[in-house]
Amino acid sequence: MKSHTNSQSSVHNSVVEKDAQCVMQTYGRQPIVLSKGAGSRVWDVNGNEYIDCVAGIAVNNIGHCHPKMVAALKVQAEELIHVSNLYYTEAQAKLAEELVNVTGMDRVFFCNSGTEAVEAAMKLARVATDKTDFIAVENSFHGRTLGSLTLTYKDLYRKPFRPLVQGESFVPYNNSQAIADAITENTAAVVMEPIQGEGGIIVPSDSYLKEVRQICDDTGTLLIFDEVQTGFGRTGEWFCKDHSGVEPDIMTMAKALGGGFPMGAIAAREGISFGRGEHAATFGGGPLACAAALASIEVIREEKLAQRSKEIGEYFRNKLENMSLDDVVEVRGRGLMLGVEFNRNCADLVDHGRENGILLNCTSENVLRIAPPLVITKEEIDQVVAVLEQA
Ligand SMILES: *Cc1c(COP(=O)(O)O)cnc(C)c1O
Repeated sequence: MKSHTNSQSSVHNSVVEKDAQCVMQTYGRQPIVLSKGAGSRVWDVNGNEYIDCVAGIAVNNIGHCHPKMVAALKVQAEELIHVSNLYYTEAQAKLAEELVNVTGMDRVFFCNSGTEAVEAAMKLARVATDKTDFIAVENSFHGRTLGSLTLTYKDLYRKPFRPLVQGESFVPYNNSQAIADAITENTAAVVMEPIQGEGGIIVPSDSYLKEVRQICDDTGTLLIFDEVQTGFGRTGEWFCKDHSGVEPDIMTMAKALGGGFPMGAIAAREGISFGRGEHAATFGGGPLACAAALASIEVIREEKLAQRSKEIGEYFRNKLENMSLDDVVEVRGRGLMLGVEFNRNCADLVDHGRENGILLNCTSENVLRIAPPLVITKEEIDQVVAVLEQA
């Protein structure tokens, strides 16, 4: 594959300059300005093409600018963009019914992002149990607002913002006894990702989730699965919980829910619900977001993307496992949520990938996270692995 040009267009330079001057510098951005996407490819303003193994961080599951998504947004935008939850809309009712069907839960509440979904789940757990405390697990990531940050493990993210919401404790992941030992009479809920994403693509044992479910049942504690990153076909099933058959009491969704349009939601089992006035979001479940989510769900279903994620994920995983690189410790994950752990920081591989037409992301410093659109082809996967092998 041809190496990418390093000479930058004036558009590139002006964007980077404006960002440096006007945007709070919270992000360590890759030095490219993206302007177009289709399927599993994106293009920068210099005309370079990339195979996207990031997918907006597990967001673009149906690929970039899927024609059905574009059409649905256009149609809805010409009819109604926003009203308010003071009124009903057809799009919201339809999506609620779809989500109840695909999650197997009883009711949903709509918001706009992953962190908001976690906030909603925390409020719901408190109001449903009349208890205050949460047990989360080490290396968890649940978001950056004050409530969800309380359940996010990394001290780097938490420390400057204390005091957070009170009543959290962290126990090792994949150790059910630690949860049993940590539950008290004040514990409202146990919260976890069924596969940890930001924490480095950590897959727990099959029995772990079942044991945690049993412990929660025995103690009257709610179980919250954060499926923000694992949802909508990413791991080879509609939701990661479906691999284990373990049903949470509350689950969170966001990232791929709107197929790229910002949206979040929680779903809860029968008997667990907000009452009138207990929670609200101005933009939650707006017509445009709901139209996007409906289109995305339709594409996942029609193109059998969950099944595809399972099959093509296995192909990808095999190729990664057989890669001729010495410093690989382990390849892990499920479906197209894959992690390659190195015995060193792998930021240089992200640069190498980008310079050779592959977008990659490194999480937890030494784990290459691979989460491409679920429409990625075997030929594209071969190209990705070939570039990694040249490193
Ligand atoms: C990304 C993520 C969040 C936060 O979502 P935002 O939309 O960035 O607020 C929460 N939980 C998990 C598991 C995530 O991966």
